[in-house]
Order: sequence, then structure tokens, then C-alpha cells
Amino acid sequence: MQLDIPYHLENFIDGDFFPPLKNEFLDNINPATGLMVGKIPNSTAEDVEAAVIAAKKAFPDWSSSSSEKRFRILNRIAELIEENLETLTLAETNDNGKPLWLSNQVDIPRASSNFRFFATAAMQFASESHSQQNHSINYTLRQPIGIVGCISPWNLPLYLFTWKIAPALAAGNCVIAKPSEVTPVTAYLLGKICKEAGLPNGVLNILHGDGPSCGEAIVKHPQIKAISFTGSTKAGEKIASIAAPMFKKLSLELGGKNPNIIFADCDWKKMLFNTIRSSFGNQGQICLCGSRILIEASVYEKFKTDFIPWVEKLNNGDPLLETSKQGALVSKVHFEKVLQCIELAKQEGGKILCGGHAVKIEGRCENGYFIAPTVIENLGPNCRTNQEEIFGPVVTLQPFNTIEEALELANATDYGLAATIWTQDISKANLVASKIESGIVWINCWLERDLRTPFGGIKNSGVGREGGWEAMKFFTEAKNVCTEY
Ligand code: NAD
Repeated sequence: MQLDIPYHLENFIDGDFFPPLKNEFLDNINPATGLMVGKIPNSTAEDVEAAVIAAKKAFPDWSSSSSEKRFRILNRIAELIEENLETLTLAETNDNGKPLWLSNQVDIPRASSNFRFFATAAMQFASESHSQQNHSINYTLRQPIGIVGCISPWNLPLYLFTWKIAPALAAGNCVIAKPSEVTPVTAYLLGKICKEAGLPNGVLNILHGDGPSCGEAIVKHPQIKAISFTGSTKAGEKIASIAAPMFKKLSLELGGKNPNIIFADCDWKKMLFNTIRSSFGNQGQICLCGSRILIEASVYEKFKTDFIPWVEKLNNGDPLLETSKQGALVSKVHFEKVLQCIELAKQEGGKILCGGHAVKIEGRCENGYFIAPTVIENLGPNCRTNQEEIFGPVVTLQPFNTIEEALELANATDYGLAATIWTQDISKANLVASKIESGIVWINCWLERDLRTPFGGIKNSGVGREGGWEAMKFFTEAKNVCTEY
């Protein structure tokens, strides 16, 4: 199949492509070059209405289709993503600024895995029955909700978009989905792939546009019964304020300020290798990155001696080059925000150990949004730098002396998404894991993902869980049926 990318992207509604009804467009910028590469619809409530009409028409057939039919179609989508790996990889990198090798090895393969995983979930999903001896039997029907909204961010564009869409479709729902307006292209291409895979018209509708115009219209629409959102805590708060009084089902995957706790007795080499990844992978723009590194005081100086030279080797460069370890930040706005955060850290008394500045790349990328990986020390747990999400290539270092102190530092923010623990003492690791306030804990590893496990945060990092049966349960309504003997 031919996956062309037009200058003006269009919405995917009822199995076809349409310009936005109000003909309003946003610029799409390549963050590595700073150049405008196209226009994307800034959709409005009118476009959402058209998508809802299409989804409503499609729902009776899709929701009652056999699980095998859903399996076949979703599995075909997974195959087509694989077959178009190169086109999707390039589109993702041009939109997001991440290195091509990263899109190629992680983002696009994972989008395909999401569809494959939930294709099989459609076949395996079962529900409970409960018997009261000699009295009654209950069974639980898990029925599709109807029309659901999926809204995703820019950091892992197709990866997180499909993480929501695939379970929603597998469970028999019709979907109105909106990718981030900053990284729309792979979502646009997914529409073409779904059409080719034989997904019936109207089952998946993909609308483009910004949060206030398109996103809020999705959240407000009375016939969209559930919202699955991944993005910032601020936008999550706004979405909850609209959806909660309408009693919509809500799944919110929000920001983080994750601790990475390093004990002196850890496997040092493995910890260093993974701490480089967890600090600066995707330019630090992964919600699971460990942005606060907490180090046992006895090895604090050794950590700096070993870690900083390695960070300094993470060269920023043209994302299309194999040799670039770090690409561009996703947008000018985000680039400026991260630079401001570094300035704030300095004002708060932080000492910059490396990085701390923008990087100019010669040639094609001379106007791109590059920042050198930055390590900061000398800041206490309560300053803004250690409290607020930066979501860029910036980490802070803090020493601790005891397990209690490590836990106090780890839990000292309003966030609670993920944490990493490095120690060879597995009892200590499990004790710390049990007391950490976060939805996900990695012991002696990072970003090791099994798609069956619950995924999500606590505190200001979110409400609800994605992944495996959690996602299938979110996208269905449980109805209990009781019969007396
Ligand atoms: P964002 O909140 O600005 O936008 C996310 C999505 O929501 C976009 O599609 C945007 O258009 C839309 N949106 C924004 N305001 C909206 C509104 N009022 N109503 C409806 N939709 C709205 O987030 P971002 O800058 O794209 O992404 C970065 C954030 O996402 C970071 O905070 C990061 O931690 C978070 N994130 C969390 C997870 C997780 O699993 N917890 C994963 C990835 C990213």
C-alpha cells in the first residue's frame, strides 16, 4: 500500500478522509529543522459531531461482531504497521525530533505489538461467575461501552495512541481518537492502514486539532461515554472537571517526577547503563524517565565520577543520523520551557554538572530545538526543580543515608507514576517497593514492559490503569446477572 503524506492532513471519519468543517488549520513543524512541513486540521465540535454520527451507525455491527472477526482485523492492522515500518518510522521522527533508530526500534514496533496484543485479548477476554451454594448463580457480562474518546500526547505518538485505541476496539467499542496536534502524522497514516485492513467504516474516527478546540469537544460530547486520556496533569484536571459531572468513565495517565533510587550495593555497571537510558531516553520525554536520582551518600561522589563523562558522550545531532544519541525536543514551546526550568534550577542554587544549554547543530538542523543532557546537584527536595515535571533531558542528584531517608525523598512530590530501585539486596528492594508511592516500580531494571501488567500512576499522576485486562475492563461495562435456583 502507498502511504503518502499530504501537505494538508485530513480527518478520518466514517472510513474516509475529510478537511475540517470550519476549514481551520494549524502548522505542523519539524522540531529538528524548525521548518513548517504541513498543515493539520484544527477540528471543532462540528467535526466531532460528524464522527459521533459515523460511530453511532457503526456500533451495532461492530459491538456484536465475533471476537474472531475483531481479532483478524486488529491483527491485520498490526501486520500492516510492520510492513510500513520505514514510512512510519520516518514520519514519527520528522514529527517528534526523536532519533530515527529509536522510532524504528521502539515506537513503531510497539504500536504494532499493541494491536497484536489486544487482537488476542479480544479472543481471550472472559468474565466471572459466582455461585451462592444452593441458592443462586451470578454471572458478569462485560459489554462494550459504546462510543469512547481516546486522547494522547506527543512523546510516544503512535505507541501511546494505539495503546488506547487497540483495547477500545478489541472490546467492541467505536472510537473517536485525537493524537497530539504536535505529532499528528503517524495517527493520520494509521487511518489509511485501518481502511486497508478492513476495519468497518465509522468504527475508528481520527480527528486532529488542539486541546481547547478538538479535545474538549470530544470530552464534552454527551454520546461519548468514556475518556481515556494520557497527557499533562493540568490538562487531566481540566478534562476531569468536564467529564466527572457528566459521570463519564475516566482513565487519566498524567505527569510524573519519578525517583531513581541507587543503593551502594547495586550492580554498578548495569545501574549506570540503565540510568543513562532512564534519564535521557527520548530526550527525557518519557513519562517513566527517572528525573530525580537519589544516591546513597557513600557512593555519591563515585556516581558523579562515573556518570557525568558518560552523559557528556550523549551527542545531540540530526535525528536522521545513526550516530545521533539525542535528537531534538518536540517543539519550540517545549524547548523554551525546558531552558527556563534550567534557569530556575540555577536561581534555586543548583549546580550544573554538565549540559544546561541549547545546542546548535550545523546544516539542516541549525534551527532545531536541541538541548544538551543536563545534570544538576545541590538542590533540596522541596524546591520547584525537584517538585515540578520538566519532561526534558534534565535530572537532579540528591544523596541519602538511610532507607527511611531514601523513601522520604522518593515520596516527597505530589506525583506517583514510576520508581526505580537499584540494589543487590532483594529484601531491601521489596521493602522499598512496598512503601514507595507510585503505580509502577522497577527493581534492577527500567522500562521492562509486559503488556499484561497494570500500567498507571497514583496521586497527581493519574486515575485508573491501562494494560492487559485492566484496559479491557475499562473499555467495558460490567453487568451482573443473578438467577435464583
Ligand atoms: P498535554 O496535556 O498538553 O496534551 C495531551 C493531549 O491532550 C493532546 O492531544 C492535547 O491536544 C490534548 N489536550 C490538551 N488540553 C486538553 C483539554 N483541555 N481537553 C482535551 N484535550 C486536551 O500533554 P503533552 O504535552 O502532549 O504530553 C506531555 C505530558 O504527558 C507530560 O506531562 C507527561 O508526563 C504526560 N505523559 C504521561 C504518560 C503516562 O502514562 N502517565 C505517558 C506519556 C506522557
